[in-house]
Amino acid sequence: MLILRAMTDAHISLADIEAAQAKIRPHVLRAPLVPAFPLSDAVGGEVRLKLEMLQATGAFKLRGATNAILSLSDADRARGVVTCSTGNHGRGVAYAAHLQGVRAVICMSELVPQVKIDGIKRFGGEVRIVGKSQDEAEVEAMRLMRDEGLIYISPFDHPHVVAGQGTIGLELVEDWAEMDTVVVPLSGGGLLAGIAAAVKAKRPSARLIGVTMERGPAMYDSLRAGKPVEVVEEPTLADSLGGGIGLDNAHTFAMVRDLVDETVLVSEAEIAAAMRALYRDQQIVCEGGAAVGVAALLTGKIDAKDRHTAVIVSGRNVDMDIYTRIVNGEDVDLAKERR
Ligand SMILES: *Cc1c(COP(=O)(O)O)cnc(C)c1O
Repeated sequence: MLILRAMTDAHISLADIEAAQAKIRPHVLRAPLVPAFPLSDAVGGEVRLKLEMLQATGAFKLRGATNAILSLSDADRARGVVTCSTGNHGRGVAYAAHLQGVRAVICMSELVPQVKIDGIKRFGGEVRIVGKSQDEAEVEAMRLMRDEGLIYISPFDHPHVVAGQGTIGLELVEDWAEMDTVVVPLSGGGLLAGIAAAVKAKRPSARLIGVTMERGPAMYDSLRAGKPVEVVEEPTLADSLGGGIGLDNAHTFAMVRDLVDETVLVSEAEIAAAMRALYRDQQIVCEGGAAVGVAALLTGKIDAKDRHTAVIVSGRNVDMDIYTRIVNGEDVDLAKERR
């Protein structure tokens, strides 16, 4: 009984997600859900793509970041926020904070490429460069939280972030009455946990499937270990799915464990093939981490025959050189390249 209570307390509820929807609606795109014709034929079912890469910052993370910023108390708004994500979460926080007139500091190491720094600055974020590793940047973010009172916004393990991402699940249920399967890219699990909470509450019979890369699948390994475990980070085309889930994970591990039906792994070549197919068939430009759902369907790792499957295409922030090589037919393997 005690265990059950602890378990449900970790979960973000449908009411939290509905509250997030009302809050963020004026500030984020209701991304279109479009038919995927060649892919539907290939799997023998009906597939539709939720185009989250069309969000202003190029990824769905704007939803969670916007909900977190809009949920700050007046006192916390005045202090400002801090994060150390250099990727889609950093962009989302910078953009949402700027729009709301809240200070946002994004901590990064000296090794972060200039394009990423420019991306964050363009969206109104204050960049602080510290040290030679992402770990040192994280230490600085924690110091700013402690010494200057900035509010830290986790990329995934944060109730308002999970609820914000969950608004995608509400839109899917509203937009497609027959939908019975949802395929979601998986890293820290904020996206999958939020969508699963919304969809399972509204349509309990629907299957929820998470997809991640073979190289460093933190949530996948943690689910099999029965608790959060560390993974070795490896170079991957799905760079936005890299990193751990936090050994002190408070929400997303329990939610993914309790709500998700299946987790699937895809290889680097499969990710490249899916990026190519999305461009060739529908002229959709997306990053590796966003193509894993399509990759899992193309390889038959998910049974979508006679099903109605929604796939989240989660972001488009991809290096142009790597992208053009992939689209031109090369199975780029980042482990074999000088970085
Ligand atoms: C962050 C991210 C994901 C995974 O989201 P989590 O909430 O960490 O599981 C998937 N795709 C893209 C493009 C992302 O930026």
